[in-house]
Amino acid sequence: SLILAIESSCDETSVAVIENGSLIKSNIVASQIKSHMRFGGVVPEVASRHHVEQITQVIDHAVADAGLTSVDEVDAIAVTQGPGLVGALLVGLTAAKTLAFVHEKPLIPVNHLAGHIYASQLIEPLAFPLLALIASGGHTELVYMAQDGSFEVIGETQDDAVGEAYDKIGRMLELPYPAGKYMDQLAQEGVESYQIPRAMLHEDNLDFSFSGMKSAVMNLIHNARQRGDEIVPADLATSFQNAVVDVLVEKTVRALAEYPDVRQFVLAGGVAANSGLREGLKSRLATDYPDVAVLIPPLNLCGDNAAMIGAASHHLFEQGRFGDLSINAKPGMML
Ligand code: ATP
Ligand code: MG
Ligand code: FE
Repeated sequence: SLILAIESSCDETSVAVIENGSLIKSNIVASQIKSHMRFGGVVPEVASRHHVEQITQVIDHAVADAGLTSVDEVDAIAVTQGPGLVGALLVGLTAAKTLAFVHEKPLIPVNHLAGHIYASQLIEPLAFPLLALIASGGHTELVYMAQDGSFEVIGETQDDAVGEAYDKIGRMLELPYPAGKYMDQLAQEGVESYQIPRAMLHEDNLDFSFSGMKSAVMNLIHNARQRGDEIVPADLATSFQNAVVDVLVEKTVRALAEYPDVRQFVLAGGVAANSGLREGLKSRLATDYPDVAVLIPPLNLCGDNAAMIGAASHHLFEQGRFGDLSINAKPGMML
């Protein structure tokens, strides 16, 4: 299949052309980061307006980059239906419906989180049963997949997502938005000298909690500032990152113990770009689960992009799971 995919759930306008769910013919990502930076976060109205301004150019660019002369040459149009910001989703969805109608192509609604998991299919074929850890700006969950398109959430955060915790701490340290990447850079320069709780580490479940860990760091900063003491941002970042990685790695290993038939582990979502997490998972799984293949996408496929939506749409295309022109955005869509 040759599929044109559109992603606009948050602050990147992205369009890709993907062959057979695995080969990237083109993947254009127009980021709005600069526009949101001065607000320290994504402003939904600003995001929608940018998507409207960008979408047609990004479609044209992706079509040309794929070596196509017209959208007529693709087999289907895939689009993120949710989760995400409703106004942002609606822009991509409207563009996708329009293309599907005009060019008489099937429309394939795709879950954004499924997209994050299927980003790994652009590297290597997925092998089932599979365990995925989604760590992103809005979600942190462990997902068991018995086969294509089957998602069982076996553990999840009870409060903040891990990316959100990174961003909030980074904002307090006056790092640019989104701060996760800068926190990660700092973490590579520091030493672990602050004690951060490993929330829920010893609880007998596969769930997470990052709000208390975030607050512990923010209280350290706040109290030091009140006393007029110095805090060492790099050491704080290292301490937080080590704590986060400990918890994520431990719960992943526990999930693998509970689901011994898993053949492949997939790291997914924006926080999959985190150096500590990538290394921590690779080395621990190599030791404890040498028979489980570990898939971690390259950095450019960790953050939001349409290539992953195209990858996730392939099996839906094969199964004829199409949407009609009346489908709506689903801001709270679940796996
Ligand atoms: P969701 O996918 O849950 O709907 P989202 O699409 O907004 O949310 P992503 O784009 O998948 O989130 O991920 C963005 C998040 O990843 C941000 O919180 C960002 O700070 C974080 N992030 C990116 N790079 C790193 C890194 N190296 N270390 C830690 N966090 C990072
Ligand atoms: Mg983003
Ligand atoms: Fe995302």
